[in-house]
Amino acid sequence: MEIKITPLNPAEMKSPLTSEFGFGNKFSNRMFTQEYTRGVGWHAAEIGPYRDFSLPPSTAVFHYAQEIFEGTKAYRRADGRINLFRPWENMKRFNRSATRMAMPEVDEEDHLAAIIQLVELEQEWVPAAPGATLYIRPAMIASDAALGVYSSNKYIHFVIVGPVGAYFKEGFNPVPVFISDQYRRAVRGGCGAAKTGGNYASSLFVGTEAKQKGYSQVLWLDAVHGRFIEEVGAMNICFVYAGKKIVTPPLSDSILAGVTRDSVLKLAPHLGYEAVEEDVDVHEMLADLKSGKITEVFGCGTAAVIAPVGKFGYKDEEIIINNYKSGPVASRYFNALTDIQYGRSADPFGWILTI
Ligand SMILES: *Cc1c(COP(=O)(O)O)cnc(C)c1O
Repeated sequence: MEIKITPLNPAEMKSPLTSEFGFGNKFSNRMFTQEYTRGVGWHAAEIGPYRDFSLPPSTAVFHYAQEIFEGTKAYRRADGRINLFRPWENMKRFNRSATRMAMPEVDEEDHLAAIIQLVELEQEWVPAAPGATLYIRPAMIASDAALGVYSSNKYIHFVIVGPVGAYFKEGFNPVPVFISDQYRRAVRGGCGAAKTGGNYASSLFVGTEAKQKGYSQVLWLDAVHGRFIEEVGAMNICFVYAGKKIVTPPLSDSILAGVTRDSVLKLAPHLGYEAVEEDVDVHEMLADLKSGKITEVFGCGTAAVIAPVGKFGYKDEEIIINNYKSGPVASRYFNALTDIQYGRSADPFGWILTI
């Protein structure tokens, strides 16, 4: 893939943000784009100014949500260089999502090369402030201008980047989680394993309800029995038994295969924990919390890395976890993962790509 580099107009260049990071509301000066046409393939790869798209109101993505995205980060190392964390996994998942949504795959190596080139050009935007990173958001949208319901013949693949701080306003502090008894995120045979916007759109109604009740995230139960735990918000979930056994639900087509989840599983033996993938029944889980068998609960995902759960709200009940404090296992994972990501510790798994 030949990427055309379009120069920026110096008068329109913003200087990189160095403090006051939000999450996902500031972007750098450049973006990557390429286009797809059935019969022609991918073409017009370009890194140019961060700019608006001009699309007719009939564009397919606006109506039928044929779209996918990814989320990964660039970390500033102490020596000034930049780390990407397991970006190969994100490239593979992007294509799995594309296939599920009847969209064309992109070349994994080209996709990663485009990200590396964009991050290199925008390197000043990778913040050095503690805990801050450059968030990388690849996405693909269906761009046929027609209202027929079919897999589009044209697509736009783009990557935007922007500096971010902590994902939760709570920082690395416990979050309150609402267990929805009524609404489901994903169904068996559905597209819960794909990173696609529709999964998020359908989560907003109950997310808003949870916020009104004072919770910041929703715990998702399986749609068949309303009993087995699947995910928390847009994160995978882990339960800690007796301070040393970590249990996370097994992957299925209604659970997103998180890179952080996989890293938690792979790191477990190195940290002296046992990690297993097992179904977790919500009623047993609540009983195990009350009896003290479960000592900690945490969510895991790229944005927050590790998010301790401070309490669950279920029906009219509230169950406090670990006295509403971050527990030792969550803290150890948070430190172990961020140490590898920022290059502060060795990388025994070959997870880091330094640029
Ligand atoms: C992105 C995402 C995750 C976390 O995946 P990571 O690769 O760890 O960031 C978990 N669940 C859902 C629904 C997601 O969209």
